[in-house]
Amino acid sequence: MTSNPGTSHYPNLLAPLKVGRTTLRNRMIMGSMHTRLDMEENGLHKMAVFLAERARGEVGLIITGGYAPNTAGLIEPGGPILTERAQAQELQRVTEAVHRYDGKICLQILHSGRYAKQEECLGPSSIRSRINKFVPRAMSVAEIEQTISDYVRCAMLAKEAGFDGVEIMGSEGYLINEFTVLRTNDRNDEWGGSEENRHRLPVELVKRVRAATGPEFLIIYRISAADLVENGATGDEIDRLARRVETAGADILNTGIGWHEARVPTIAYPIPRAAWRFAAARLKRVVGIPVVASNRINTPDVAEAILAAGDSDLVSMARPMLADPHFARKVREGNADQINTCIACNQACLDLIFSNRSATCLVNPRACRETEFDDGPAAKARKVAVIGAGAGGLAAAAEASRRGHKVTLFEATDRVGGQINLARAVPGKAEFDEMLRYYRGRISDGGVELRLNESPDAGDLRREAFEAVVVASGVHPRMPDIPGIDHPKVVSYADLLSGKRNAGHRVAIIGAGGIGFDVAEYLCHSRPGEAPKARGLDVTEFQAEWNIDAGLAEAGGLKGDPLAPRQSPREITMLQRKATRPGVNLGVSTGWILRSSLAKRSVRIVAGVSYERIDDKGLHVLVDGVPQLIEADTIVVCAGQDSNRTLFDDLKQDGIELHIIGGAREAAELDAMRAVDEGVRVAQAL
Ligand code: NAP
Ligand code: SF4
Repeated sequence: MTSNPGTSHYPNLLAPLKVGRTTLRNRMIMGSMHTRLDMEENGLHKMAVFLAERARGEVGLIITGGYAPNTAGLIEPGGPILTERAQAQELQRVTEAVHRYDGKICLQILHSGRYAKQEECLGPSSIRSRINKFVPRAMSVAEIEQTISDYVRCAMLAKEAGFDGVEIMGSEGYLINEFTVLRTNDRNDEWGGSEENRHRLPVELVKRVRAATGPEFLIIYRISAADLVENGATGDEIDRLARRVETAGADILNTGIGWHEARVPTIAYPIPRAAWRFAAARLKRVVGIPVVASNRINTPDVAEAILAAGDSDLVSMARPMLADPHFARKVREGNADQINTCIACNQACLDLIFSNRSATCLVNPRACRETEFDDGPAAKARKVAVIGAGAGGLAAAAEASRRGHKVTLFEATDRVGGQINLARAVPGKAEFDEMLRYYRGRISDGGVELRLNESPDAGDLRREAFEAVVVASGVHPRMPDIPGIDHPKVVSYADLLSGKRNAGHRVAIIGAGGIGFDVAEYLCHSRPGEAPKARGLDVTEFQAEWNIDAGLAEAGGLKGDPLAPRQSPREITMLQRKATRPGVNLGVSTGWILRSSLAKRSVRIVAGVSYERIDDKGLHVLVDGVPQLIEADTIVVCAGQDSNRTLFDDLKQDGIELHIIGGAREAAELDAMRAVDEGVRVAQAL
């Protein structure tokens, strides 16, 4: 019998749940996420390895990314689809891999409706979405009937492939969701008009899939628990839909939050943890079947609190299972402090997917790349020095030590973390603390010798006879050559974010890259002289910020324009020399949140400037050749970084095995994702 020391801390999270004739071993679900793995060469094998690792990590239930039930339902040409027996046979390798570790797995059926990125997209009505250039064609009654049959065929094929059930995707603004609300459904036949008619499609789908697949097959319905768009459903309508799909035969009600076209952010780091539990809690009161809470649940403590309060019966965590495949096992074994926590950055998962690449994870570069890494020990243990304990150095030291090397990690300052210590000051980015907690644990548990306040030179390293050196000495902020740059009102972003310096009421920011935007956001959330809130907004503030109606009395759960102007405690101007649109390189899934937040606070952004000088009045620039004065009490420099490579250049002559990673290797476009990836990969090669 396995021992469960975690039960005393997480009794609800670890309690098994019997649903129909299926028993889930705990309350943790790996929610659906399209990784694009299946679109790669040998993709199904990679997916099987990826999901099997999560099953081995003891997650209670896995839900796959969405599979279209027919070609019209494809999110894009070449996307995942399940319409033929041959495809079902191939998918067996995925279900068998998961079942080998006693896991349970459901296939999600997703018809993209008017979000499909194809000319011939379909919807209940011919109403285009603002996020798709293609105008949907209104489905005929025969097409609706055919689509229902296609769902049934897809579910039957999933059963044949060995899946334990299916999830019918009814949220996020996809086809089924489109049928349920007036925003997208202006039909006047039996599939539109009255609420009962608008709910007919989900009800018929659940009913007929149940009839075809029998009582033992799990049917999860993912309901849109808050649409967050104008003319969406009210809470009362959502309640009635929930009861209808329960009566139709659904076993579990999963919750989705917000349509993809919503102007309210739903899962990225600026959203407080568990911000959406109210929506699941509401449904829990109206149905008898188990309800799943989702979105921004990333730690076992948050998950346990939701379950303990009776707000849901299960919790869905998709990205957290990318970050740590063994999340559930660590909870059971009483080692929750060893979990590699998802920091909700979206950088390596959603942002890669949106740029047509397969997902991975910033804090876990192995995710979806399992087949590229070796989990075994090194052939020969060696004496390794890692210089710099920023993201890259920490990752390299932890991985090298896991492989059996004797590792010494040198850090010039009095703490580990490097640039992460600055990033964590930005509202919402205190999630980076979890990354530091994880790596601190790994380097101390792994026996890495950590030497703080030490920056060895080439001679020191030679004397200690290291066999290999990994230089991860990072970057320093660039100070541009502008007359007056040494004026007392000039502050580097590092001094500002570390709290060494403060900013006045009128601020000019030199540089409108990722850090310039972060600094502007930081300054928008604190008054001069006040400590900023690294934790970001709390749930009440978040709801007020985006005009969310948590009572769901209003249609779509909005009580006003989410982008309505807000007061800023400062006057901020951001500047860049390039004439291109500022912020183009921000993350696809998070950049718009930052841009909206700053626009709401009237932050001025000026492109195409050349810097003339800085004096007591402020920053003098030329815009299109015309002189302008940006009056400022403080000028914050966010002009990128330069690499710290002196040690590397000194060691190059020595003949010692030498590696360089992260910002030290290449300062441009430095980010934690590249640094961690390079750290782990270099350690694999030692
Ligand atoms: P960055 O994004 O490359 O931006 C640097 C900014 O400095 C640019 O606006 C650049 O614009 C300006 N600049 C460069 N050299 C200059 C000079 N000599 N004089 C004046 N201005 C100069 O770099 P970062 O903002 O330091 O961010 C570092 C990395 O972290 C980037 O990869 C960034 O994407 C990432 N990051 C992302 C986010 C996010 O997505 N939210 C947040 C933080 C960091 P001009 O050259 O046009 O003036
Ligand atoms: Fe979470 Fe970021 Fe990893 Fe995505 S990339 S799973 S958001 S930590």
